[in-house]
Amino acid sequence: MDCLFCKIVAGEIPARKIYEDDQVLAFHDIAPQAPAHFLVIPKKHIATLHDLSEEDDKPLVGHILFVAQRLAEELGCQAGFRVVMNCNELGGQTVHHIHLHVLGQRQMHWPPG
Ligand code: AMP
Ligand code: ZN
Repeated sequence: MDCLFCKIVAGEIPARKIYEDDQVLAFHDIAPQAPAHFLVIPKKHIATLHDLSEEDDKPLVGHILFVAQRLAEELGCQAGFRVVMNCNELGGQTVHHIHLHVLGQRQMHWPPG
């Protein structure tokens, strides 16, 4: 599988892991855009938001969001944080294995640019 995040899931590429269970993995972003910046990904390969199945993946998507919520609390983002999922090139996606960005510990602005 030629996917960077599948390789992280498989342990073939190192990552600064924060949390792991049978469905998801969370790790610090290698190029943080905020003092706190981590990613929550499903362990199974799903390329983009478009490739999620409403029938099969609804519980997984909910789980990703609640893991993000809990870890944001644990990693000092109680005052506020941002979650982002980029979709496809135009949406700014560079790694085609879905991931929720969680960014915190600095003032966010809108629009994001
Ligand atoms: P996106 O542009 O939304 O696809 O986000 C991909 C994110 O993955 C970027 O924020 C990268 O900094 C991050 N990233 C790329 N390679 C790694 C890696 N080996 N470990 C952790 N994060 C990574
Ligand atoms: Zn993958």
